[in-house]
Amino acid sequence: MAPNGSRAKAKDKKKRLKKLTERTPCRWCKGLKTCEEGLARIDWKNVDQLQRFVTPQGKIFSRKRSGNCSRSQSLLKAAVKYARQMALMPYVG
Ligand SMILES: [Zn+2]
Repeated sequence: MAPNGSRAKAKDKKKRLKKLTERTPCRWCKGLKTCEEGLARIDWKNVDQLQRFVTPQGKIFSRKRSGNCSRSQSLLKAAVKYARQMALMPYVG
């Protein structure tokens, strides 16, 4: 009973570490050979798509919250800002 229990604990620890260190692939690059394919889908005219990455106030979600990689987050940021200029999306405040 005792050795079995300690082994289960060690496994649990391993699982937790994996969870902390591993990042899930971002939704734009997932399952694609090249990032460019996925990143080409980020479009400032597609407001419904962009609205999933902002709060109701219009703030852009952080990378941690949205799960984007740095490249897609950067492109998304530019897309949201351009959409704001084109009066498709609200500014914060
Ligand atoms: Zn990505």
